[in-house]
Amino acid sequence: MNGALGPGSTIGIVGGGQLGRMLAMAAARLGYRCHVFDPHRRPCAAEVAAAFTSASFSDEPALKAFGESCDIVTYEFENLPVAALGVLGDKLRPGTRSLEVAQDRAVEKRFIEATGASVAPWRTVDGVADIVTALDTLGGPILLKTRRLGYDGKGQAWVDAADEATAAWAAIGGEPAVAEARVAFDAEFSVILARAATGETRAFPISRNEHDGGILRRSRAPAGEPIDGQAREGIGRAEAIANALDHVGVITVEFFACREGPVVNEIAPRVHNSGHWTIEGCATSQFEQHVRAICALPLGDTALVGVTASMDNLIGADVERWPGLIAESGARVHLYGKGEARPGRKMGHVTRLT
Ligand code: AMP
Repeated sequence: MNGALGPGSTIGIVGGGQLGRMLAMAAARLGYRCHVFDPHRRPCAAEVAAAFTSASFSDEPALKAFGESCDIVTYEFENLPVAALGVLGDKLRPGTRSLEVAQDRAVEKRFIEATGASVAPWRTVDGVADIVTALDTLGGPILLKTRRLGYDGKGQAWVDAADEATAAWAAIGGEPAVAEARVAFDAEFSVILARAATGETRAFPISRNEHDGGILRRSRAPAGEPIDGQAREGIGRAEAIANALDHVGVITVEFFACREGPVVNEIAPRVHNSGHWTIEGCATSQFEQHVRAICALPLGDTALVGVTASMDNLIGADVERWPGLIAESGARVHLYGKGEARPGRKMGHVTRLT
């Protein structure tokens, strides 16, 4: 295969969480070795990888040595220092552009708008006075989100009225932020697609996502109405974003399904929690598809293998239900081997197919 990186090669994965773990498992199935790079002592991805480097994400000499031991390098989360990752050069797939855009909510929103997609009305916020102005111009309630390092609803605060501005600014740690108008959505969905270096893209069936307290609880496919009616536009918007980033690998675009059409919430330049059901639910999983895209193998078939697929996250103490889930016929249980079940921590998931 022209230019393809074959089985037996080593794929570096920056980040050692559950996404890296499932990526390493998919890569191993195709005969690749994985080398995980993560600052923790025993991250859950390292337990299923051939090699592991424990070092800070900003440790350039360590990153350089890691890069030299790998044929290509990818990443499993976006909050990484772009300058340090520069030492990986063109071994890094996707490249640093996708990271730069996805790790700053203001940059991300401007980028999305430039591709022609809609986002919630928004403003940048650098202090209490900006919150008051945002309430005035956007209309309350507004949602403050730190520009950087927020995930799973962290670094976020709703503000209803001007007298809450000081407390809200403190609640998000006084960090540069964006304020978003509240979106009156009918449902939430994500488009997960892979883009090859040739520019070819292939999307997975769209899933309907249900969040609670900012954390994904459940995804299911087919998504049903009103999402299915917005699927074509959503996939087109996600393709335009992937093309504008010159992204190589899997990318996820999260949407609100609104009466006036799909509105982008955010981009994740990687495999995504809302696509875990593809492991059993699709002919090719999102993890295998990412490996295929970054290794320049042909992209796989993304069709649903059954009629429906649903995925429920096991968050915090939910994981204690594992004995019952393991005993349930047809339940596909995934446990990430993370140890302590802290509140809000993603410990595993369970997929059911019909
Ligand atoms: P995020 O961290 O941006 O993905 O937000 C997590 C969840 O919070 C989303 O999936 C929505 O359920 C909710 N959310 C985020 N932004 C908004 C918004 N502007 N209006 C209404 N709900 C929102």
